[in-house]
Amino acid sequence: MRKKIVAGNWKMNKNFSEGLTLASEVVNIVNDELNDDVTVIMCSPFIHLAQVAKNAQESDKVFVGAQNMSEHASGAYTGDISAEMIKSVGAEYVILGHSERREYHNETNEQLAKRVDLALEIGLNPIFCCGESLEIRESGKEVSYVCNQLTESLFHLTEDEIQKIVIAYEPIWAIGTGKTASSQQAQDMHKAIRDFLAGQFGQEVADKISILYGGSAKPDNAKELFAQPDVDGGLIGGASLKARDFVEIAKSF
Ligand code: PEP
Repeated sequence: MRKKIVAGNWKMNKNFSEGLTLASEVVNIVNDELNDDVTVIMCSPFIHLAQVAKNAQESDKVFVGAQNMSEHASGAYTGDISAEMIKSVGAEYVILGHSERREYHNETNEQLAKRVDLALEIGLNPIFCCGESLEIRESGKEVSYVCNQLTESLFHLTEDEIQKIVIAYEPIWAIGTGKTASSQQAQDMHKAIRDFLAGQFGQEVADKISILYGGSAKPDNAKELFAQPDVDGGLIGGASLKARDFVEIAKSF
């Protein structure tokens, strides 16, 4: 059985006190209402992380993650945050390779491979984002584009290591646009990703890796998306900023 996961990416939203209010609302609603075996992850800004991790201790279903980390272990990298720092405040996950970081900070597949290694070394689980632009989808090359992202950042891993990765397929044209991939489009890509992972790591390993969908997922479309056999949950941006909406998504399996 693969882990069902709903992860919220707060991005650069919520000041400290607003963030803590959101975190405690999520924890309370999860504790009261979420019966399913679902892992809920809140990926807050770095500033909030230590306190959000404390809030998450109130629930055995809620975990926290960072939204990015350095590809260096430590040293003279002003403004950067290391894997060890993230781990030391109680976070267990880290988003790597979000399309906004790839686009605005020029993150490359090669840099992301280094971050994946450092995260795993320290005991963090990467939520590795992949996904194509509208232009690539319209050219019909979306599967090979996504597979190349996986090859260059993840295919050096061992069978044990790859099982610690959560993959988030996020078509760029669906992020923050209100335009969701259809459940069939999501399923087709998730299946292609799983087949590709199976080719490298074997079917048994591929069947254990959770693949999340991200891109304008909301309470009213999550059920249909999560009903697809290869969709194991979601990475949620906008809708993770309202505790009620976020937990409704987590209740949609
Ligand atoms: C995201 O940025 O990871 C995301 C999926 O955003 P949204 O849900 O707002 O499209």
